[in-house]
Amino acid sequence: TPMRGVFLEIENLRVTFDDFVAIDDASLSFYSGDLRFLIGPNGAGKTTLVDAITGLAPAKGRIEVSGQPILGTPTHKLARLGIGRTFQNASVFEELTVEQNMDIASGARRGWTTLLRRRRGMTSKVRDTLETVGLSAYADTKAGVLSHGQKQWLEIGMLLVQDCTVLLLDEPVAGMGKDERQATGRLLQKIAEDHAVIVVEHDMEFMREFATSVTVLAQGSVLAEGSVADIQSDPAVREVYLGT
Ligand code: ADP
Repeated sequence: TPMRGVFLEIENLRVTFDDFVAIDDASLSFYSGDLRFLIGPNGAGKTTLVDAITGLAPAKGRIEVSGQPILGTPTHKLARLGIGRTFQNASVFEELTVEQNMDIASGARRGWTTLLRRRRGMTSKVRDTLETVGLSAYADTKAGVLSHGQKQWLEIGMLLVQDCTVLLLDEPVAGMGKDERQATGRLLQKIAEDHAVIVVEHDMEFMREFATSVTVLAQGSVLAEGSVADIQSDPAVREVYLGT
């Protein structure tokens, strides 16, 4: 059956560094409606996979976003094609307000002239997105004084406001307290309804609670894929994680 909504399809992806094979003919697909977690031991190739999707690793094979091939597209053009990524340490402009950060993100997509021509005041899109990420009350707050969790939400908001359809999130709940983790999980569930969301995560408890499916990478290959229950009972996965 053809895939609906947003999807990211990766076929026969291969990434080598000199003669070391970091991703070995991996084929994976991600789609909206599915909150997918990508896990695997250190060195499995998770970061390299995300780097390949975002144009930062030398890759061969095929990567398509909703049918459009993107492999070989320079990183700065990928945002315009809807590919967005966050890093563990949120990269927001600390001296600017939350709203100004959002304006810069939407300007990055739409062009600076549009941004400068726009009359003062929040666009409804910025307002709606701040609402989605739970930062409505912080529009005028300097990003630098936000909590670690709020900075992550702002960074996610900055991807949403520039119409990213594929979101690659690197350990989004690292360093968060329980309430922020729960709020983040619910936010990601909501976003995943109409975006392809890929969460690289080490926090197994967070994964168990919020993943609708899981891909396990090991030594550059897909070791297992399925529901949380499938993954947890998979002998190969148990061996990689527990050595049993
Ligand atoms: P993970 O994110 O799952 O911990 P990585 O993608 O960071 O794994 O790394 C996968 C493998 O590729 C590791 O063995 C790592 O040493 C290697 N690797 C990653 N980037 C480079 C690079 N730029 N040059 C050489 N080897 C690399």
